Amino acid sequence: MSRRTVLPGSTSADGRPATLGVMGGGQLGRMFVQAAQRMGYLTAVLDPDPTSPAGLVSPYHIQADYLDEQGLAQLMQRSSAITTEFENVPAAALVTLGSQRPVAPSADAVAICQDRVLEKAHFRLSGVPCAPHAVITAPAELQAVPDELLPRILKTARMGYDGKGQVRVSTRAELQAAWDGLEQAPCVLEALLPLEREISVVLARSSQGEVVSFPVQENLHRQGILAVTQVPAPHVPQALQQQALEAARALAQSMNYVGVLCVEFFVLQDGRLVANEMAPRPHNSGHYTVDACDVSQFDLQVRTLAGLPLVQPTLLAPAVMLNLLGDVWFDAAGAARTPPWADVLSVPGVHLHLYGKLSARKGRKMGHLTVTAGTPEQARERALQACTMLGLPAF
Ligand code: ADP
Ligand code: MG
Repeated sequence: MSRRTVLPGSTSADGRPATLGVMGGGQLGRMFVQAAQRMGYLTAVLDPDPTSPAGLVSPYHIQADYLDEQGLAQLMQRSSAITTEFENVPAAALVTLGSQRPVAPSADAVAICQDRVLEKAHFRLSGVPCAPHAVITAPAELQAVPDELLPRILKTARMGYDGKGQVRVSTRAELQAAWDGLEQAPCVLEALLPLEREISVVLARSSQGEVVSFPVQENLHRQGILAVTQVPAPHVPQALQQQALEAARALAQSMNYVGVLCVEFFVLQDGRLVANEMAPRPHNSGHYTVDACDVSQFDLQVRTLAGLPLVQPTLLAPAVMLNLLGDVWFDAAGAARTPPWADVLSVPGVHLHLYGKLSARKGRKMGHLTVTAGTPEQARERALQACTMLGLPAF
């Protein structure tokens, strides 16, 4: 459906107060809902989980499966425009929603971002370098992989996240076992690249093609999960940052993308920049924007969805974001505990975000801390203090 502006506090022709809908009720949905509510919108969340983080804070929570026709009909009935908070939302659901309401990002863009094969083809089409890879969809393609190609990483084309759905393989036997372990699903077999570091870019693009972007973020992953984000990126030369911003912009442009997009990149040891993957939504590495920028990635998600003007965000303070995984809810002996929030909150510049998840599991994203300060060194110093208090490794 064509776009039109949904002004905050307005009422539609059928008397509905301006309501923004979101597919998915995780923490990204929760922060979207909070940003939308601050601007006066009502919100509607569709998520089957009765205790979903976004469902808990939204006036309308439609508890239904993502393909449930009645659920989708209710979401459309409530909402003036609809977005998504996770890339694995079924494309068919977005097509249905898009037939009656403005949906951003579009089903086509989400389809590219949710499939590593299409995503890599899009990198190539846009002239953005990515890792050398082979597509594996049939036993013959697996057999055809030359021995010299190994070691590599086998990644499922769809549904992988936080390092799940990927296996490092060194031998042909390991490759076969890994593919069997992934139920012979379509995969990419990707070259293991010599990483110097990882960075990401979050941008927002309007339906008129305006693009604004946040500064380049430098990310540290542990066990395939984002652990620390630092902004400004302490170790990335300006020219490379500029290259990443331009590549992200080109990728958005060539998808005719509307919404917030994150592009993850590898910086290789020889200084080259390689695109890793895209997320058609705000991203964990952009969470610092809530506390450290004048507009956040979620504010821009609201603006792109509602057809409001985009403004170039300004970084107000250097920031370090620490992810709080469920591991922090257990002491060294493995006993459950409440993390020492009072200590952590005694550190100046600490902003605590908890997502309201009812149970902590190791590796589960429970919240994050953003630490701001007058200088990058001070932000890092304060973040390290918080790490010590929480039993997190230094960075
Ligand atoms: P996910 O969807 O799980 O985030 P990614 O493709 O981003 O999947 O991989 C997770 C992490 O694994 C990356 O952030 C990086 O640290 C590491 N990794 C992934 N692909 C490669 C590669 N080709 N070479 C080296 N490290 C990689
Ligand atoms: Mg990733």
